Amino acid sequence: MALPALHLAKVERRYDQAGSMLEVLRGANFSLWASQSVALVAPSGAGKSTLLHIAGLLERPSGGEVYIAGEATVAMADDARTAIRRSEIGFVYQFHHLLPEFSALENIMLPQMIAGLPRSEARSRAGQLLRYLGLPGRENHLPAELSGGEQQRVAIARAVANGPGILLADEPTGNLDPKTAHHVFEALDALVHATGLATLVATHNLELAARMDRRVTLHEGRILELE
Ligand code: ADP
Repeated sequence: MALPALHLAKVERRYDQAGSMLEVLRGANFSLWASQSVALVAPSGAGKSTLLHIAGLLERPSGGEVYIAGEATVAMADDARTAIRRSEIGFVYQFHHLLPEFSALENIMLPQMIAGLPRSEARSRAGQLLRYLGLPGRENHLPAELSGGEQQRVAIARAVANGPGILLADEPTGNLDPKTAHHVFEALDALVHATGLATLVATHNLELAARMDRRVTLHEGRILELE
């Protein structure tokens, strides 16, 4: 049987806050499978960002294990973790963080060129992704010349430019009006099911969460399935 794209096993995360320990994650277990979109819905401060950072190998847990495509990552050296993060994991944040002086196309080309792809291939894949995400004709626009929803779709295209197996998104539509948020989610959903991406999205938007394959929450530091 195939392994989950991402598996968290008994993940713990404690923060030392002014001498007292804040236990944010207390043995969180979670599996995310290819071609699956999962909404993470929990109140502010529940630990959503912490969980995404640990799942994305940006932070190490205080305990437990994080498996990426079946591989245990917690004890790996920083450079090995960075290599896995670059090839296997894409991130989207609430704010797009596109490079303002580069066009939409160039923003999607850059991570591919950093990964060693020739310029022509990077350009061709960037163009495909833009068309796929419903942005034809926006190739040469600078981020400031795009609407908020278009900027987020470019950010999604950039996050998946190197073909990661996992996409992690932290409130990707938190900054958008409901209709625009809906369009961005539709584009994301189409991408997940066309490419086999495994996607975990932290969101406050219950309507959008309802459209995803699964919904989970964080309660007392553990992940629970929601109906
Ligand atoms: P959410 O994304 O659900 O709003 P976070 O993961 O950002 O929650 O934060 C969970 C809790 O952990 C909060 O109480 C926050 O203050 C605390 N926290 C997060 N990061 C740190 C840190 N680097 N140092 C200390 N406390 C932190």
